[in-house]
Order: sequence, then structure tokens, then C-alpha cells
Amino acid sequence: MGLLDDLDRGLFDLVFPRDCAVTQEPLDDEGWLHLSFAGADRLDRITDPRCITCGHPFEGIIEGDRACPHCHELHPAFGRAVCAFRARGPARAIIHRIKYGRSPFLLDDLAAVALSDELFRRHLAGSILVPVPLHPNRLRHRGYNQAERLGDFLATRIPGCESLGLLRKTEETESQTRLGRAERRQNVAGVFQLAAGSFVSPNQRYVVIDDVLTTGATLHSCAVALKKAGAELVDAAALCHG
Ligand SMILES: [Zn+2]
Repeated sequence: MGLLDDLDRGLFDLVFPRDCAVTQEPLDDEGWLHLSFAGADRLDRITDPRCITCGHPFEGIIEGDRACPHCHELHPAFGRAVCAFRARGPARAIIHRIKYGRSPFLLDDLAAVALSDELFRRHLAGSILVPVPLHPNRLRHRGYNQAERLGDFLATRIPGCESLGLLRKTEETESQTRLGRAERRQNVAGVFQLAAGSFVSPNQRYVVIDDVLTTGATLHSCAVALKKAGAELVDAAALCHG
């Protein structure tokens, strides 16, 4: 993948056709802007049965606290999370490029494929999407918030959906990637707040959204902030389950 594949290029495409982000083959007219049908087929999609709490594929019987091994001991403030892909293989590589490779536009194609998952689509319909915010310093460094771009993309394609940046992140936190389950919860506890001038309604359903759900700690912490502010119906969604 060359430098040109990492740019939103407009007219450049006429001269230098893009490659599929998964297969690396030149894109023809089929598929999406950066993803071919063959590439989309190689994404590890989540299908039923899945955990009704975190959305991970789960075949067992969920008893008591509704937790599968992936959301064990989370006791989330959100009701249900739905995810479209497993965060492994090509989906993981694309997420990495979105976050660290300055390629936020790849989100659009991943989200477009996610929308063909009927459950994912229904889960978001009619809700207010609340992207997980980045701390202002992180936002300045990255130049974009991938969760916000995801929210904007989905909101224009799902009936009755709106994406609102209702939350802000008040503290810079250590990256979650190297932390264990309990440490992740601790790391993001209490770091989200309702943004100045924002309000929530107890009658409205909110879906906190992010690119990846791993233990659910970040989405949980955002749901706590929304509930503290008065929201009663809060769910969650992510493109990928880590
Ligand atoms: Zn689970």
C-alpha cells in the first residue's frame, strides 16, 4: 500500500486507481471507495448467536449477570452492545490504519459494510448516537476523532438517527491497549462528562459508539456519564469487538 492509498484523493483516482484496503488489488467499479467485495468478504463478521451484553459471538447460556467471558465482571451501565466485526485479521489492520495511519476515511467503508448487518442497523435506528470523545490533546495530535466520523457517517444512513457530541473527556488517560480488564476500568472511570451546553432526556434512547469494544470499559464509562446527566436508555455499539 503506497502513500497515495492513504489520501482522500478525489481527482487523483482518475489517474492512479486505488487498491482495496484488504486484498491490495486495484479496485474496479464494484464495492466501496477503498474496499472491494472480495475484501469485505474477508472481514470477520459477527453473526448470531452473540452475547446480549457485549455483542461477542457466544453460544453458551447466559445466566445471572448476563456476562459472557468477554464482558465478565463489567456490569455495564449500558443495556446492550452490538458489534459488526471481530477485531482480528483484515478488520484489525484497517482499524489500525484508521487510528494510527491517518486514514480515517477507511471508517466509512467499514461502517457501510457493518450496516448490512440487520441487527447492527436495527440497534442504532431511531437513537441519538454519542461518539466516545477524545481528550482535546489527543484530538489535536491525531487530527480527528474516528468515533465522531463513524457517528456522522451512520447518522446520515440510518432513519431517525442523529449523532451528537454530548460528552467530553476531562482527563488524558493511558492507552488501554496494554492494560488488563480491571486496570482498563480503573483507567477510564469518571473521565467522561456531559459537554458544556449539552443536555439529555430520560425519554430518548442513546447509543454510545466507538470503533472498537475490547472489555467495554470505555463505553461503560461514557454510559455512566450519560446516566448521571439524566439519561435512562443507554446502549452501545462498536464496529469491531476486540
Ligand atoms: Zn459479553
